[in-house]
Amino acid sequence: MSPVSKKRKEAKKRKKPQSGLHSKAKVTYICLQCHTTEEIPLNVVRNFDAMDDGDPTVPPQFRCEECGGGMYPEYYKGIHGYEYRISDVRK
Ligand SMILES: [Zn+2]
Repeated sequence: MSPVSKKRKEAKKRKKPQSGLHSKAKVTYICLQCHTTEEIPLNVVRNFDAMDDGDPTVPPQFRCEECGGGMYPEYYKGIHGYEYRISDVRK
């Protein structure tokens, strides 16, 4: 019989505010198919960007939850110095 709580380990380790200036910054992504917009935290986009070994002229891509289409940043400057704009792909 031991009344020791088993819950201990779970709860913590959450939400550690990202140190740095941009923790609140967001990148607006726009679906190329249905034009849904979604705000994605900049640090998430950055992480994607950093892990992505692909073509640096292509921004990190997300999938639209509405239609499954590709989303493109309204504006995002990548870690490699490239700038991406929705106007690049929208006619
Ligand atoms: Zn969509």
